[in-house]
Amino acid sequence: MAKVPDTPESLQQCICGGCPSYNQCMQDNQEGLYCAREKSACEFDRNGCICGACPLASEYALDKLFYCALGAET
Ligand code: SF4
Ligand code: SF4
Repeated sequence: MAKVPDTPESLQQCICGGCPSYNQCMQDNQEGLYCAREKSACEFDRNGCICGACPLASEYALDKLFYCALGAET
């Protein structure tokens, strides 16, 4: 399976910013695109994950959720 590229174009498609689990700490760290990067450095509550609605999840056939807790697929 192709890996999600860590590019500005990918970041633009990432919808983490609209997720109920995405918090102020993540925003302050300008985090996102967790499926292509490392997991979050922030503590956060799991209030749901909207990765399933992300265009990159469809394009790269991602089958997990909470990449902010998992980091990139290896
Ligand atoms: S699948 Fe999730 S972590 Fe990856 S770019 Fe989309 S919203 Fe962000
Ligand atoms: S990886 Fe999922 S749970 Fe985490 S911020 Fe992105 S959409 Fe929300």
